[in-house]
Amino acid sequence: GTQKPPAEEIAARDVFIAVKTTKKFHRSRLDLLLDTWISRNKEETFIFTDGEDEELKKRTGNIINTNCSAAHSRQALSCKMAVEYDKFIESGRKWFCHVDDDNYVNVRTLVKLLSNYPHTQDIYIGKPSLDRPIQATERISENKMRPVHFWFATGGAGFCISRGLALKMSPWASGGHFMSTAEKIRLPDDCTIGYIIESVLGVKLIRSNLFHSHLENLQQVSKMEIHKQVTLSYGMFENKRNSILMKGAFSVEDDPSRFHSIHCLLYPETPWCPPNIVY
Ligand code: UDP
Ligand code: MN
Repeated sequence: GTQKPPAEEIAARDVFIAVKTTKKFHRSRLDLLLDTWISRNKEETFIFTDGEDEELKKRTGNIINTNCSAAHSRQALSCKMAVEYDKFIESGRKWFCHVDDDNYVNVRTLVKLLSNYPHTQDIYIGKPSLDRPIQATERISENKMRPVHFWFATGGAGFCISRGLALKMSPWASGGHFMSTAEKIRLPDDCTIGYIIESVLGVKLIRSNLFHSHLENLQQVSKMEIHKQVTLSYGMFENKRNSILMKGAFSVEDDPSRFHSIHCLLYPETPWCPPNIVY
């Protein structure tokens, strides 16, 4: 079909992909990503964790020990997001993208998507996790509150922010400011990002159905469409195992996340992918 020309030619190297992880998931989750999509995109991937790991260092560069607590608390997660933001600003790259350690990133389609927008404009793109804006209470001072509502992109599906917008977020996001902004609304890190962008700066989230978390039914992504998606995931949904449904190079027993099979579908020339498979 006819495609409109990109707003800006960008390369993978213009994107800063922040992967949030924690030490206890280095073997169980991160190794899978290093085997698959990160192996092709080491230059653009930055791993944000909370503990030293020599084995991890042997496999890839760009590992940032945030020194944030390894707890799954709102504060610990906001602490990591704050470091992600600061490292992105420092990097000078055009686009900031955040993903969790249970996301597969198709960097080819990510770059294609982002090249539809100029990085100097205010762009916030991802998938809303709710079907309505989130209602929150902003603490203005000691005993002054005000209701706010805004959309936010769910962190578990991944989202991206242009450099132009990220720079405007600085008074609320840089240095220690992200943590204090998060405390003002007492919501998780991805909500705080949405709050700064939509509520404070008045910039609207651009919705994309190409980002996927395991909080949606992943079986609804058809095999024909897998190569078009920007992020995929696996995990639990409504107390059931949730992953992409596809017959692929590996069985569900050997490849429960389906990430190895997805990787072979996208990059069949990968040495460990079985040869001569007709997908
Ligand atoms: N995570 C973290 N510290 C923790 C627990 C989780 O940084 O103590 C990260 C984890 O590595 C992942 C994200 O937070 O990138 C979401 O965690 P998980 O997938 O376990 O939970 P979900 O919110 O998807 O149910
Ligand atoms: Mn998850």
